[in-house]
Amino acid sequence: MNNASSLIIFSAMLIGLAAVANAETGAATGFQDDPMTKWSIHDLNRPLPPVVTPRPAGPPVPPPSDAIVLFDGKDLTLWEDAKSGPAGWKVENGAMEVVDKTGSIRTKQGFGDCQIHVEWAAPAVVKGEGQERGNSGVFLMDMYEVQVLDCYDNRTYADGSTAALYGQYPPLVNACRKPGEWQTFDIIFHRPRFDKDGKLLMPARMTVIHNGVLVHDNDVLTGPTAHKARPPYKAHGDKLPISLQDHGCPVRYRNIWIRDLEK
Ligand code: MG
Repeated sequence: MNNASSLIIFSAMLIGLAAVANAETGAATGFQDDPMTKWSIHDLNRPLPPVVTPRPAGPPVPPPSDAIVLFDGKDLTLWEDAKSGPAGWKVENGAMEVVDKTGSIRTKQGFGDCQIHVEWAAPAVVKGEGQERGNSGVFLMDMYEVQVLDCYDNRTYADGSTAALYGQYPPLVNACRKPGEWQTFDIIFHRPRFDKDGKLLMPARMTVIHNGVLVHDNDVLTGPTAHKARPPYKAHGDKLPISLQDHGCPVRYRNIWIRDLEK
């Protein structure tokens, strides 16, 4: 190994150490080029993700053999509302649809580390602007949101756009299809780790692929996602429900499956 390559490896180790040190506080990592130190929440000056045209919409993506199918288009038996009552959304033509004011729904089963596939469609009839157009969301552990929104020709703050880790990271690109078309999210999630006293040992991380396009590459979450806030981590269980948001828009979902990565 020559001196130059030793230096590169040493620098990489230092950066890694800095990331771990900051991971323990759950605060922004503090790198000079870290976007989290530059932008306030929902910052309108934050650049919008560039538009990329993804592959055309296709039929539902079949689950692999080890996946748990959470929704196959037939019924909501694996889902409940936030009070553990029956999920109030409607199921029609192989899809579930948000019914305004019935509330968000969640899986009865809890999950930690996982790979999850979700297909969704914003309403074909465009209504509202910004955050009011086709808003919903996929929440890992009921608290870490990947934003569902119709950002096809629709401006909103970058950290709230489609596939944003809401309030924290905009997607790398805007890979939206047209409203009414089916879209896919493939999410790889690693839950945060806490010690027995509730101290954060490792923050949560997310990789997201939207319509076949990488939009988050192992992003480190600063805590639960929230509106106009970046709350710190609070110790929680290892397995919590996946939830889907009722934001008052008739967003549809189909073909939801998950691979449990907890070993
Ligand atoms: Mg949302």
